[in-house]
Amino acid sequence: MWIDTHCHTKYSYDNWLEPVDLIRRAKALGIDAVCITEHYSYEASEPVEHIGREEGLLVLRGVEIATDRGHLLAYGVEDDGWNTWGRDNYLPLTEVIERVNLLGGICVPAHPFREVGLACLLEGLLDIKGLAGVETHNGSNTDADNQLALRAATLMDLPTLGGSDCHKTLAVGRCATHFSTPVTCMADFIAAVRAHQCSGAYFPGYLQAQLPGNLQPQPVRAELAVND
Ligand SMILES: [Zn+2]
Ligand SMILES: [Zn+2]
Repeated sequence: MWIDTHCHTKYSYDNWLEPVDLIRRAKALGIDAVCITEHYSYEASEPVEHIGREEGLLVLRGVEIATDRGHLLAYGVEDDGWNTWGRDNYLPLTEVIERVNLLGGICVPAHPFREVGLACLLEGLLDIKGLAGVETHNGSNTDADNQLALRAATLMDLPTLGGSDCHKTLAVGRCATHFSTPVTCMADFIAAVRAHQCSGAYFPGYLQAQLPGNLQPQPVRAELAVND
């Protein structure tokens, strides 16, 4: 099954993407579930879970954390108690990883080779301890940055994940993660990542939707958010 493991909605407060539009777009593309990873807050995405239930799509929830060495996706935290640092762009990466792991969650560096200001994992990704996987396919990344992440994941012997990093409807589903085992909840998701039963990819259904003659042959790349 396919899960878009890195999605933002208007509850990230840096975009206007309505959750219902994200969910309907994901369904139309043939994605089986989405994981909402709003900036800094797990709790912010609570309404999206309800909308997913109404729309008939599994909605999982994580959080995207901006650290002093780049962005980190955390899955498996159940409230915002992980964050004792407040909301700024330089949370201490190693301490955040330790905290999330202690809480039973897992951490995956997001777009590790995209430059985010001065904070980028480019130099030191291979040495970071406590990661469960690497986001190798990010829908807002250049292909070259995704290729670098893929090489890093191979060197680190970590499973790979793919997510659109969508901040608008047309970006939904450009990348996704294929799970070779059923995922019905966050516990399944974490177990599958730990068992290396997942791999990131450019989602085939997204490419198909862009072919001439389909409903929305838009110049999607120009529409992609460039940050976060
Ligand atoms: Zn990010
Ligand atoms: Zn993001």
